[in-house]
Amino acid sequence: MPTPISTSAAPTAVAGAAEARLFVHARLLTMCTGGIDGHDSIAAVDGRIAAIGGQAEIRRRFPDAEVVDLEGRLVTPGLIDCHTHIVYGGDRSAEMERRLAGESYESIARAGGGILSTAAATARLTESELAATALPRIDALLADGVTTLEIKSGYGLELEVELRCLRAAHRIATLRPLSVSATYLAAHVVPPQFPGGSDGYVEQICSQYLPAVAASGLADAVDAYCETIAFSVDQVARVFERARDLRLPVKLHADQLCNMHGAALAARFGALSADHLEFTDAAGVAALARAGTVAVLLPGAFYFLRQQQAPPVRALRQAGVPMAIASDCNPGTSPMSSLLAAMNLAAVEFGLSTEECLAGVTREAARALGVLADRGSIEVGKSCDLAVWNVEQPAALVYSLGSRPLLQRVWRGCPLPAPAAPAAPAAPAAPTVSDR
Ligand SMILES: [Zn+2]
Repeated sequence: MPTPISTSAAPTAVAGAAEARLFVHARLLTMCTGGIDGHDSIAAVDGRIAAIGGQAEIRRRFPDAEVVDLEGRLVTPGLIDCHTHIVYGGDRSAEMERRLAGESYESIARAGGGILSTAAATARLTESELAATALPRIDALLADGVTTLEIKSGYGLELEVELRCLRAAHRIATLRPLSVSATYLAAHVVPPQFPGGSDGYVEQICSQYLPAVAASGLADAVDAYCETIAFSVDQVARVFERARDLRLPVKLHADQLCNMHGAALAARFGALSADHLEFTDAAGVAALARAGTVAVLLPGAFYFLRQQQAPPVRALRQAGVPMAIASDCNPGTSPMSSLLAAMNLAAVEFGLSTEECLAGVTREAARALGVLADRGSIEVGKSCDLAVWNVEQPAALVYSLGSRPLLQRVWRGCPLPAPAAPAAPAAPAAPTVSDR
């Protein structure tokens, strides 16, 4: 077990971050410059970084501050998971058994499984139950050093349940010390037997759902799923035009299963991010570069779906498109609650460098959420969100799987111990033979 970091005073409650606190004797990977920063100490005041410098200078400037001695450890910005569907009801692990036994996804969906089973299970839960159900997955991400988490709705389908999911996302931010960005995934899947089909549903989203979500103030952005099995370019454009009218930023699930020219669509609307991008072509990459839209890579879904075509990482890199990495934690295609694992998969499966992986879960993930001015790097003026690691080299955070290298998180200037291994989720009824 790692030795606990010594402090000159007992850590104060998370809510009371009013006083100055110094984090000294660190190896700082600020993500502003390449490599380890020459300075070794940070002063946080009211939860924000007030100064970065040498230990003697920082101690002299803040003589009354509590001091946290990081004992030479590697410190990065707190990690940011910029794409998750982590709030949902139900459990689809039995589907994996059925698929491994040879049953097709279509057959499982026809028998009531798939995304609509998650939607049905989600609709049965209250706001507090939705938040509580997500906590084991949240805790796993916190144990990876995550301090900011994006949470999408999208399994609610109907307005009332969508709003409940967004409220559950905000409730999570009151149950755990972390920052939450909530995204309204407006066009995810067409509810069965919806009058007018997908066009009718898009009309309902634009005329009723989006204005209501905007008025609620619960969503930081609007998302959609552009795929042949979901919504067309024209339908998504209608949703995005309405979002623009309502001054909500947009992001898009684009080109995951085929080239729908989703990246170009996202760029046309100045989207914060275009996510997946396995089938994005050269024109799509160029459009992302011109728009400054972040490419969010989701290697967990690529892995679980056993996809063959990786996103055009080399073209994205050459065009200067910022690349972020996220867990895409969701019950259907990426049941993965580890951002460190996503980094490893991005390196192994997509060929990202370790530096790109680290930037992808810090600076570029912040950019993908539109919060770069506040988070994503260790800079004066930003929120003092840090991850303290038990590793020698930054590359070690990408290299291994399952090693649990986090020693400590710091969120808004408050040091927090690394969460223990997450508790198992509330046990559902034991599976019976008929469940198979
Ligand atoms: Zn997604």
